[in-house]
Amino acid sequence: MSDTLVRIVSEAGDLRGIACLSTDLVNDACSRHRTSPTASAAFARALTGGALMSALVKGDQRLAIKFEGNGPIQKILVEADADGCVRGRVGNPDADLPFKDGHIDVAGSLGSAGLLTVIRDLGLKEPVSGTVHLVSGEIGEDLAYYFAESEQIPSAVGVGACFNTDGTIAAAGGFLIQSLPPANDSSIESITAMINAMPPLSTMLKDGQTPEAILRHIFAEVPYKILSETPVAYKCNCSRERFERGLLTLGIDELKKIANEDPDGILTKCEYCHEQYEFKTEDLEMLVRVLVRAQTGDYNF
Ligand SMILES: [Zn+2]
Repeated sequence: MSDTLVRIVSEAGDLRGIACLSTDLVNDACSRHRTSPTASAAFARALTGGALMSALVKGDQRLAIKFEGNGPIQKILVEADADGCVRGRVGNPDADLPFKDGHIDVAGSLGSAGLLTVIRDLGLKEPVSGTVHLVSGEIGEDLAYYFAESEQIPSAVGVGACFNTDGTIAAAGGFLIQSLPPANDSSIESITAMINAMPPLSTMLKDGQTPEAILRHIFAEVPYKILSETPVAYKCNCSRERFERGLLTLGIDELKKIANEDPDGILTKCEYCHEQYEFKTEDLEMLVRVLVRAQTGDYNF
């Protein structure tokens, strides 16, 4: 089954449910970043969180989620847009820890002390951001705490993955349930009871449960309607033009120096997707001419 994101709302309009399958997205990300099994599990949860939260932005809006902890992974960055395109990177993709209580030690790898920051680019002058302390380093719990503390939205978040014996992800996915104002305590209680009673998310994913099936489980006692079912994927928005703009910020002297230092030019690499962009000496010289012309006010090139 391909990666999809399903959005539902309760008939009463007091609860929002989002669930996704993110298996291909996560495998794509982990193979690009060559993550260790532990880093893959942590990255899988964070990327799935990003995929779920892509449902909370609209139009050209984007969001970034930054986990920074005192564990060996150091940090995980995830970005997502309203089209369900998700990209991310890991501070130390080689970080690997022994199993703890029979499970991959995600919390130990990220660390229990640290910060979670969510930045939303809503197209305003300045992006809107909120930061909370990590509560456990388990990622799903941390995201739920962020919503409750920073956005005052009672939320339940589940993100998980299960592995194949070769270390690839067999299935990844998650859910995000949010209370919409005015909060209805009995709906929240019913949802919480269903989440507590259901099998572990990783087991449901292993059993091939679809995002809609997961939501059906959670909303067993709450009537709801499906709003949409859309794809999610690992996709980077980098381009040669973006790297050109980055090089232009170096200035004339620095660009000249780089062009003179290496007759073959330079190879730049995107930290999110590892795509490489080559800038030959003549490309760098062209960028120098662009800056010189901009400086002298001669735009007729
Ligand atoms: Zn890229």
